[in-house]
Amino acid sequence: MDTVQGCTECARMADEYEAETMLWFRLEGHLRIAEYGHDEEAAQKIARDLDVVTKKRAELRSAMERHNLECHENGSPKMRAVNGA
Ligand SMILES: [Zn+2]
Repeated sequence: MDTVQGCTECARMADEYEAETMLWFRLEGHLRIAEYGHDEEAAQKIARDLDVVTKKRAELRSAMERHNLECHENGSPKMRAVNGA
């Protein structure tokens, strides 16, 4: 994950992405339990939630990429930040 040190926008999106990722893993766990217990109804509901989180993560990812291009230019944003740009 490309985050630029000292950039609040990068930090905010990275935090959000991490939170969504944790949520994703939690839902995945719930889904397995529901499937294991042959709880079709619960599994379907969790699968829908999982889908929403998956899309949210994809959106966040592209938002981060876009932000990197717009605010930190192409190439290696990390090096740029370290060099004090
Ligand atoms: Zn940034």
